[in-house]
Amino acid sequence: TVRVRFAPSPTGMFHVGSARVALQNWAFARQQGGVFVLRIEDTDAARNRPEWTEGILSALEWIGIARGAYEGPCFQSANAAEHRAAAEKLHAAGNAYYCECDRDMVAARTSEAYRGYDGHCRDRGLGPGPGRALRFRTPNDGETRVVDLIRGEPTFDNQLIEDFVIARADGSAVFLLANVVDDQLMGITHVIRGEDHLSNTPKQQLLWTALGHTPPAWAHVPLVVNEKRQKLSKRRDKVALEQYRAEGYLAGAMRNYLMLLGWAPSDDREIVPWSVIETEFQIADVTPSSAFFDEKKLRAFNGEYIRALGAEEFVAACQPWLVGEAPVAPDSPGAIAAPPWRAEDFAPALFAAVAPLAQTRIGVLAEIVPHVDFFFLAEPPADEASWAKAMKDGAAELLGAAITAYETAAWEAETLKTTLEAVGAERGLKLGKAQAPLRVAVTGRTVGLPLFESMELLGRERTLARLRAARQ
Ligand code: GLU
Repeated sequence: TVRVRFAPSPTGMFHVGSARVALQNWAFARQQGGVFVLRIEDTDAARNRPEWTEGILSALEWIGIARGAYEGPCFQSANAAEHRAAAEKLHAAGNAYYCECDRDMVAARTSEAYRGYDGHCRDRGLGPGPGRALRFRTPNDGETRVVDLIRGEPTFDNQLIEDFVIARADGSAVFLLANVVDDQLMGITHVIRGEDHLSNTPKQQLLWTALGHTPPAWAHVPLVVNEKRQKLSKRRDKVALEQYRAEGYLAGAMRNYLMLLGWAPSDDREIVPWSVIETEFQIADVTPSSAFFDEKKLRAFNGEYIRALGAEEFVAACQPWLVGEAPVAPDSPGAIAAPPWRAEDFAPALFAAVAPLAQTRIGVLAEIVPHVDFFFLAEPPADEASWAKAMKDGAAELLGAAITAYETAAWEAETLKTTLEAVGAERGLKLGKAQAPLRVAVTGRTVGLPLFESMELLGRERTLARLRAARQ
């Protein structure tokens, strides 16, 4: 059976590019009736932190790879003895040798001709000892051909593969070896991972063979880049899945969008349920060129997913942002940790009535808060620029006339609108112009939800109080 693994290192927040690779492994495993193994590569003690591991598990769970649905998590650090044993086995078989060259000597002995270390200690027959690393003896001739489901058969000239280190002087294995030994122990049949590892693959394939196993099929997924076609980076771009989650991206939109990077479902469809992805996804159809992570497009996707929610689902989805329980993540400018109103002023029934007005207008869930805040604040949010813009000459007089008319008007959106239309017409104003000061008086903003529906829901008393306050 097919066995794939996702093998993140717990060294930071969970990158959207990693989420994509995880989903591709997951889709492939599910489609093939195979097994997905989660392996935490936690051997870089200086950079690993347990909370990052927890972050990986919950990020995976959020995008639909739930704990319990996969094998693991297992931890690379638990296999340290096997890694050492593999290194010793390679040494015993003559496939590896001890090297006493220190960092400076290696640097001096590194040349373009070998693409690395020149193999100075290769035939010196050194035994283990302080400061001696173990290096793999790569073949001098021939080539290493890897089967890559996305890239065909990249072929590497063995002469250009340096004798690389497999174990440090203390006997601990380096990534290249540990990663291979773990894959062997776990019976991995397909390694689907980022393109950044492609240069490791010939070395790792040599290790697979030297350790007496048939190498897996590989698939090196292209990188995800920004609009300048630069690799997405933590410093420059919003890369953490946690940040998107905190801003109110829906998991369904996120995983749909991530799978569409470099691949498309049939019939030019873009928005498709996961079941379609699982059925149709072909790793071989992923394009080998890098994929543009287009935040605008993701946002548009998310808007579609939001609009597709049932009314009650939408209310439930907004809930965390309304009650101050939204997920948080560092450096997420669009996230809203706590709403501006007092908890006791939040009225769920009123929100349920308002929600349909907002559902068609927001791109991410966090935006629900600035759209509806004026319902739950005692006074509309104060924004001086908006007030200055709307409360021009004649605004007070217009507000006065609107107040008088609204004191007796039926309190229903259509009537509120025609009433203001009439008030405006008497002053030579179109509805848009007449509406502007009222909108700011009631909602505190120059744009937002439909005004008359909002006034209907806010009620006559609160609306009139705001109009009166604004008139002064
Ligand atoms: N821990 C490695 C990484 O995070 C795993 C690479 C692999 O999938 O083999 O990039």
